Amino acid sequence: AAKDRGKSNWVAYTREMGVRIRDGAELAGQLREAIDEGQLHLVYQPVVRLGTGEIAGCEALVRWRHPVRGQVHPTDFIPIAESSGLIVPLGRFVLRESVRQAARWRKHDLRMNVNVAGRQLREPGFVNEVAAVLTTSHYPPELLTIEVTETAVLSDDEAIEALHGLRAIGVNLALDDFGTAASSLGLLLTCPMTTLKLDRSFVEGVTTVTRQAAVATAVAQMANALDLNAVAEGIETPEQARLLRGLGYEFGQGFLFSRPLTPADFEELLLNGVPGELIFS
Ligand code: C2E
Ligand code: MG
Ligand code: MG
Ligand code: MG
Repeated sequence: AAKDRGKSNWVAYTREMGVRIRDGAELAGQLREAIDEGQLHLVYQPVVRLGTGEIAGCEALVRWRHPVRGQVHPTDFIPIAESSGLIVPLGRFVLRESVRQAARWRKHDLRMNVNVAGRQLREPGFVNEVAAVLTTSHYPPELLTIEVTETAVLSDDEAIEALHGLRAIGVNLALDDFGTAASSLGLLLTCPMTTLKLDRSFVEGVTTVTRQAAVATAVAQMANALDLNAVAEGIETPEQARLLRGLGYEFGQGFLFSRPLTPADFEELLLNGVPGELIFS
């Protein structure tokens, strides 16, 4: 009976996989159209200075308004974009649009953070493209931060070379989701990073789970010793914000302060500010 059960589970599993694979192929085809037809747009999540509650900048996050499925989240299409190569035109849209928006918000003195996939970094001419986008929008490179993950740059000489090129034109570099992938501390020596973003998985239990707090502490100390900015991602409670500030995280990001917002809603947040009691009460 156990064997039968095993077999039927296996059948159910492959059927589900089949659906998911077909689904992926279908989405890849539609993604090309989405890029051309303007179904992609950006939302912006504030990055808050934990010491003061001031909005220091934001992270641009892509969204897909699918004509049938409605809002599709990046975790569902970025992997498809990467494997199909569509990440290159998609990333080009994200870079142009986010820098254009940042230039419009120039008087607020915000930093703009943009996620870039490994495939984009390896694209010849990527550094020149970033330089051209900055020039076109008259936006200072020092206010742009490119976010990459550990896996995007791990043992990839071309990607690392691109990071050096970006630093050379004055762009800042953040190591995103720090601590989750094949964390190689060697990356901190070979890549010219300026910021570490502690992954949300360590923030989640930072006030209750001793081991998570220990990792968060060690990452803050390391960032400080290496003269890197430290950002904690996924802050959802005031207790987490206070604790992380105490550990040395200068910046924080998370639903506590705000969900990612449309440009109009972000402007309203800029006017009203983030309520200080979220951190200080
Ligand atoms: P990420 O770069 O680590 O972005 C942070 C993600 O965490 C965002 O999800 C954000 O909405 C979510 N988040 C922020 N605060 C909280 C919180 O307090 N609690 C929880 N539970 N989640 C929070 P999103 O927008 O769904 O993006 C997911 C990932 O997709 C991003 O992770 C990034 O790796 C990728 N991504 C998004 N936009 C782009 C893009 O334009 N290009 C590339 N290459 N990747 C992108
Ligand atoms: Mg990011
Ligand atoms: Mg992240
Ligand atoms: Mg993440």
